[in-house]
Amino acid sequence: MTTAHALRRLRDSLSLSDRMPLVFLGHGSPMNAIEDSEYSRAWSELGQTLPSPKAILVVSAHWMTRGTTLVDVSAAPRTIYDFYGFPDALYNQQYPAAGNPELAREVVSLLQSHHAKEDDTWGLDHGAWTVLKFLYPGADVPVFQISIDMTRDLAYQLEIGKALSDLRDRGVLILGSGNVVHNLRAMRMGGKPQDFALEFDTLFADRMTDRDFGALSNTEKLGPLLRMAHPSVDHYLPALTIAGASDPTDELTFMTDSIDLGSVSMRSFVFHQA
Ligand code: ZN
Repeated sequence: MTTAHALRRLRDSLSLSDRMPLVFLGHGSPMNAIEDSEYSRAWSELGQTLPSPKAILVVSAHWMTRGTTLVDVSAAPRTIYDFYGFPDALYNQQYPAAGNPELAREVVSLLQSHHAKEDDTWGLDHGAWTVLKFLYPGADVPVFQISIDMTRDLAYQLEIGKALSDLRDRGVLILGSGNVVHNLRAMRMGGKPQDFALEFDTLFADRMTDRDFGALSNTEKLGPLLRMAHPSVDHYLPALTIAGASDPTDELTFMTDSIDLGSVSMRSFVFHQA
């Protein structure tokens, strides 16, 4: 299905439901924030399709913690430039959305058994703001991030999603930002999709369609293919959070399912009530 067709179908179904959809975006290069690309265009269109949330909770690949899940409770999260050697135009970007300390503290209690703690030092890293800029260009919806705990197994991130899922009925949009395949060492400028990238991306889409999240979080069974697709799983974990927050009655819509630079999947998806 083309992204345009997927977005049209999404628009038709979203108008019928009050339950917030769940969104995972493959963010790729920070340059997407300032370039007109098929991705940035799709994110803009998606933003026009989505309902207006009361708040956005972002799980980004770029906030990694060890032994804890941190929740940003700051009232005005700063824009973080967590990349090096890019053009000035990228460092001049701002995403001045407010935080939502009250809701963020509630998320800390929701995730109590997952060692969650308050934090007021993070803000919005580029996994968050480079896509939010297109989804909600007015920066008029409160946003806060939660971190990913790198010391846990993949299934743990599914559990985090499940623990957050009721927020969907309270007008909270849960946004995951990472990449379904992310191997920077295997990147080639202008390179065609590498076999392992296509294989993992297809397997991911198939298992997601079957709602077989167990297969997607079984490190042993995924074996060497997982290690090729994700030498480090940071960009994979947010996709699992989103899967964990989904409900069996949700429909699943994929968009921008292409592989960039040979080894970065830009596949994005939305779970939504029909
Ligand atoms: Zn990234």
